[in-house]
Amino acid sequence: MKIRTRLTLLFTFTTATVLLVFTTIILISAKENREKEFYALLKKEAITKANLFFNAKVDSKTLQNIYRNNRTTLNEVEVAIYTTSFQLLYHDAVDIDVVKETKPMIEKIVQKNEIQFYQNDWQVIGMKYKFQGKEYIITAAAYDEFGYLKLENLLETCIIVFIVSILLLYIVGRFFSKKAFEPIVEMTDKAKTISATNLHLRLYTNESKDEVSELATTFNKMLNRLENSFDSQKQFVSNISHELRTPLSAIITELELSTNKERNNDEYKIVILNTLQDAKKLAKLSNSLLDFAKANYDPSEIAFKQVRIDEILLDARQQVQKSNPNYNVAIHFENDFEDDDQITVNGNEYLLKVSFVNLLENGCKFSENNQSKVIISLRKEKIILQFTDNGIGILEEDLKNIFKPFYRGLNKIYADGNGIGLSLTQKIISLHKGTISVISDKKSGTIFTVELYHGITNNLD
Ligand code: ADP
Repeated sequence: MKIRTRLTLLFTFTTATVLLVFTTIILISAKENREKEFYALLKKEAITKANLFFNAKVDSKTLQNIYRNNRTTLNEVEVAIYTTSFQLLYHDAVDIDVVKETKPMIEKIVQKNEIQFYQNDWQVIGMKYKFQGKEYIITAAAYDEFGYLKLENLLETCIIVFIVSILLLYIVGRFFSKKAFEPIVEMTDKAKTISATNLHLRLYTNESKDEVSELATTFNKMLNRLENSFDSQKQFVSNISHELRTPLSAIITELELSTNKERNNDEYKIVILNTLQDAKKLAKLSNSLLDFAKANYDPSEIAFKQVRIDEILLDARQQVQKSNPNYNVAIHFENDFEDDDQITVNGNEYLLKVSFVNLLENGCKFSENNQSKVIISLRKEKIILQFTDNGIGILEEDLKNIFKPFYRGLNKIYADGNGIGLSLTQKIISLHKGTISVISDKKSGTIFTVELYHGITNNLD
């Protein structure tokens, strides 16, 4: 069931319940009032007739005639007068007597002064009456035809008003819920048209700060993020294909040229070495991409454990120097550490090594002397690693971009690369809740500062 229908029904049901309770109270109170008023009328009639009988000395015959005449047109009250010892003094019409008085009934009236009860639908009242110091018993009975008719009319009116009100409430509820949900329906229709090919479309928002507009704004913000990530994904893929194409085209051209005509051994050797170099570039690129993908995993899926930073740095240095024998990396401790905890962080050994290798390799490859140095400073809560070199430095305008994937600075002509290293490094460091920053100078070289915290545990997100 749609929320709109549900809300309308709920609204109608609630209001109908309130209306029903209200109507019931009115009907009950009307019923009670009719009863009370009619007993009062009976009492008045009984006293009037007794006054006529005792005070005005109107004879019984006349009174009975009046009763019989009125009875045909009005709901005349039937009155009887008794002595306290159950002796009948007067009766409006003994032959058509409705209330059959009995001795116990008279005794009860004597005892209680007054009684009221129903006989079939007739209301009966029995009361004491005093005349010249003597007590008499009067009974009066009548059927409240007008009262019941009025009650019936009231009930009919209530039922009709109730049904009409419910219908009206349902229609009004439906109308207002339709009005209230119109923006949501509009939003749904618009959202249905948004797909990967037209991610630039946005939902309509208005100035009012209502919930629907807030929802649309939140949805639009989500679309902004999606569009950005879609764009960067597209950019990423086109960068990858570009990076793959360059060494692949070089390999193909090299191999085609070598097969054009017969070559001597030395020439073949040069071709093989060139293609090997390009193949290595491809392998490095694919490894970097793989690491990049790993660093982008859900952090909860990456294994973290207590790792010693100095050991990882030694491994990284070994790897860098093994693949580039002319590179030289120095590791320097600024202060001694008292226990292992000071040099330990909770991290992923493999990813941290990848990031250190990148920084060390960059330091060496962008330096004339192919040398780089790591200075380790141990603080109470963190480890500071400064990867320094005396190389060519990074241009001011490149500094803000070097952490972007595939970005290579203007100094790229100086060394081979694919521009993934630093973005991958930054990703890895932030995965460890650490920070990386850079300062560079054309004359003195570059310093990358990495800060890692001891206390950070697995609550990485
Ligand atoms: P790559 O080294 O493959 O070009 P990186 O992402 O590792 O890619 O680095 C991005 C850019 O940052 C490099 O192209 C270079 O311009 C600059 N860079 C990084 N490290 C250094 C450094 N130590 N000295 C000078 N330039 C650097």
